[in-house]
Amino acid sequence: MSSASESPDKATANNPLKHPNSRIAVLTSHFTATMSSEKDAALAAAAAPPPADSPTIFDKIINKEIPAKVVYEDDKVFAFRDIAPQAPTHILLIPKIKDGLTGLSQAEERHCEILGQLLYAAKLVAKQEGLGDGFRVVINDGPDGSQSVYHLHLHLLGGRQMNWPPG
Ligand code: 5GP
Repeated sequence: MSSASESPDKATANNPLKHPNSRIAVLTSHFTATMSSEKDAALAAAAAPPPADSPTIFDKIINKEIPAKVVYEDDKVFAFRDIAPQAPTHILLIPKIKDGLTGLSQAEERHCEILGQLLYAAKLVAKQEGLGDGFRVVINDGPDGSQSVYHLHLHLLGGRQMNWPPG
């Protein structure tokens, strides 16, 4: 004789999404769990953003404590190739001094000059990289923007056709 857990009712048995032993049911439950943990991680990050002046991996790159492929540097801006490029050209431009700019959402009026310098440097680097047919500049902000390093940075992407809308 079978127990209830071994013998799902007929409706459940005929529904691959509900049958507890079905591969689809297992995958569905795994997928839901993954989405839930990603959401939890984003909510946790939003609830406890890192302190404005806590160092990030980018401070170590600026201070040359870890290597990076530097493509541009002036007195305020530092630019280097992304370690995980999403396009043939993928460069990160950062302010050398963070001054509270963990992300664009933290910008205040005093940051207007460095924000302009970062954008202008992006144009200079795009030209230097031969991106005459166009390029894209991206700033990810916060959990919803999928920001992972809390030191403001511009992504300069080029060398392929970009798509819209972005993912
Ligand atoms: P976010 O996701 O915050 O907008 O972008 C952070 C970027 O920093 C990512 O594209 C990631 O690949 C890049 N990144 C993270 N760690 C390093 C590193 O140690 N070196 C370099 N060159 N890029 C990094």
